[in-house]
Amino acid sequence: MRSIVVKSGLVAFVSAVASLILAAVVLKTQGMAFDRSALMISTLCPLLIAWPASARGFLQHHRIEVAHEEVARSRDELARAHAELAEAHAQLAERASRDAMTGLLNRENFLKAVESASARRGSGVLLIIDADHFKSINDTHGHAAGDAALVEIARAIKCKAGAESISGRIGGEEFAVYLPAFDTSAAFSTAEAIRREVAATRMAAPGGSTLEVSVSIGGAELCHDVTVAQALRIADHRLYKAKRAGRDRIVLPEPQVSSAA
Ligand code: GH3
Ligand code: MG
Ligand code: MG
Repeated sequence: MRSIVVKSGLVAFVSAVASLILAAVVLKTQGMAFDRSALMISTLCPLLIAWPASARGFLQHHRIEVAHEEVARSRDELARAHAELAEAHAQLAERASRDAMTGLLNRENFLKAVESASARRGSGVLLIIDADHFKSINDTHGHAAGDAALVEIARAIKCKAGAESISGRIGGEEFAVYLPAFDTSAAFSTAEAIRREVAATRMAAPGGSTLEVSVSIGGAELCHDVTVAQALRIADHRLYKAKRAGRDRIVLPEPQVSSAA
């Protein structure tokens, strides 16, 4: 505010000087005397008019500057809020794409991810991994212990499937893994590592007992002329072959057949 008074005072002073010079020149060219009235009029008029007028101008200019700063601050805050919202949205979408209990992709997002990965790579092997006799595990040890066993199976899958793989929980006690660019013998080694890891897991169950769990695995190759849905059907068919053969085993395209025995 003080700077406005000073700046407008300066403008008024310059106006008064200019007015004095102008009045002196005009009166001289007219052959008239530059008397006290002329001095007062040519000094007071610019002071009384230019001072408040320029003060008003400077004040408005100052207000516009303040408003501009507020708009810039609000724009920055809005941009920050936008970025936070986008981040929260991405986190929410990521969380919604996963099974809350195991952290693996849910069925829908697993299938989407496999569709796009297999279209990109053109080959791979799909495994379906199903917990054996899970109903009786629940019946014997309780549902909470069953849940803990599912988390352990998911852990074994994450641990053994490899960084390039895509894993999902596609049903209650059913999981699936896509192994990209794997041939059946490499896929067999990975499936066997998962089966062994699950079979070696021991969990404390209510009542001091120990819970053991096993999985059966069926697999199918994915290539350009086999869709994900077809590969899932074939892998499912092989999974039931593994179940019928006694469980805790892997059935992949011939000739790899493994048994726990
Ligand atoms: P199989 O060896 O033939 O696969 O037998 P199974 O008992 O595992 O198969 P079945 O389809 O008869 O039963 C699956 C069981 O899995 C029944 C169901 O209560 C249990 N289950 C499914 N989802 C969950 C879950 O989220 N938590 C727990 N604790 N149990 C589950
Ligand atoms: Mg089962
Ligand atoms: Mg099942």
